[in-house]
Amino acid sequence: MKKNTDVLIIGAGLSGLIAAAKAAAYNKKVLLVAKGMGAIGLSSGCIDLWGYRTDNPEQVCPNPIEEIDTMLEVNQAHPYSLVIDELGESVSFFQKICAENNNPYFDNQGGNWLLPTALGTLRPTYLAPASMALGNLHNVKRILVVGFEELKDFYPDVLVDNLKNTGELSSDCRLDTALIKAGGGELSSNNLAHLLEKTEIQSSIINQLISHITADTIILFPPVLGERWDSKAVDNISNGLGCPIYEVANIPPALPGQRLQQMLLHHIKRQGVEVILGCTVTDAYIKDKKCLEILAIGSGKQINIKAKNIVLATGSFLGGGLASKLGEVWESIFKLPVDTCEGKWSTQEFLAMEGQPFNKFGIRVNDSLHPIDNQGQVLVENLLVTGANLSGSNFAIEKCGNGVALATGYKAGKLVGEVGQ
Ligand SMILES: Cc1cc2nc3c(=O)[nH]c(=O)nc-3n(C[C@H](O)[C@H](O)[C@H](O)COP(=O)(O)OP(=O)(O)OC[C@H]3O[C@@H](n4cnc5c(N)ncnc54)[C@H](O)[C@@H]3O)c2cc1C
Repeated sequence: MKKNTDVLIIGAGLSGLIAAAKAAAYNKKVLLVAKGMGAIGLSSGCIDLWGYRTDNPEQVCPNPIEEIDTMLEVNQAHPYSLVIDELGESVSFFQKICAENNNPYFDNQGGNWLLPTALGTLRPTYLAPASMALGNLHNVKRILVVGFEELKDFYPDVLVDNLKNTGELSSDCRLDTALIKAGGGELSSNNLAHLLEKTEIQSSIINQLISHITADTIILFPPVLGERWDSKAVDNISNGLGCPIYEVANIPPALPGQRLQQMLLHHIKRQGVEVILGCTVTDAYIKDKKCLEILAIGSGKQINIKAKNIVLATGSFLGGGLASKLGEVWESIFKLPVDTCEGKWSTQEFLAMEGQPFNKFGIRVNDSLHPIDNQGQVLVENLLVTGANLSGSNFAIEKCGNGVALATGYKAGKLVGEVGQ
């Protein structure tokens, strides 16, 4: 099979999907291919820009965009240095897409949200879906934490015990728990979310909980209230109970991230982007610093793709963009050099405050996101690199993974979209 396109996006993680959406907005012919679903479906579904203060990593930063500016004064190697001018635009672009698709994402007026997790800790994030955007906990008078007998990965008592110790609740806030049944045996988050799309199950949840509700109650649920991005589960249960309900962040796989990915796929297809999933790019033919053809395998068929511009959004080790064996690391398709920063792979302390160094490994690029060598020379002129593939960030401790993916994906989409305009 042969394909010809203006823009080829490799990868269906957040950076690839946003790059596709932005390029399609310029009426480019866009093809997106991906072998798998990437990290977004494992993530909380929230968009972190920056979590903690650079001068005190134990303190949540009050204004992530200001904090990024401060961080860049001392760390120009961070991928945010490439997109600082597009960061605000990319956030607005994302929020607009989400609102258009009835899956609004809310900011907290420039600050971080502090959202409860299943463990009862509070995690900072910049954008949260409506079902998670729980504002100031100080004003809450009663919290009911609801678990499902069938769901083994969520313990309401643990959440309550730890939440009490965060110092974020008012002294007169009451916390209670309830364990309810959705029906069926032991269920994974995905199976439970599927069940909760059914109106009769939603009614059963309402019946089981109605006697627990008082006028000032808010309810915290595990993030299983519907499997689709346009699910009505949260609204229906909330209306039936007459109180606000929120989903908390839980361990992967998490439905809010999966819903976001489905919504973005739905959006780009409606924009005219051709999407081929289950399709692995195996090789690239490069001549005179130009990629002339890409080779991919999907459903047992070989696909030869010619594209004027290509966006490499294949993620890091988890996504498959980078591969390694002991002492060696490489970029999977173009065999681009991988920057191993200070050359150190790991620290002995698994949960070290400075994070594991290998998370910073990635591809070095110039301001136009073209991959470069050690001398700063562009390696492939019609290739742009985005997201977790880029060197210099440590998403796990910096809390910037989806922020970097969003902003770099947006910039890549804009750059390839503007070609010839
Ligand atoms: C468990 C976990 C939880 C996280 N939680 C959060 C969070 O709550 N908030 C946050 O902001 N960040 C979070 N992050 C970080 C964040 O999710 C990632 O940094 C970000 O989503 C990376 O997006 P990406 O598009 O660059 O790459 P990825 O999401 O990794 O996508 C890579 C894509 O490329 C495809 N691909 C790879 N190789 C090929 C190939 N050869 N051919 C075709 N396709 C290919 C993959 O299949 C995939 O579709 C989390 C990360 C993990 C691992």
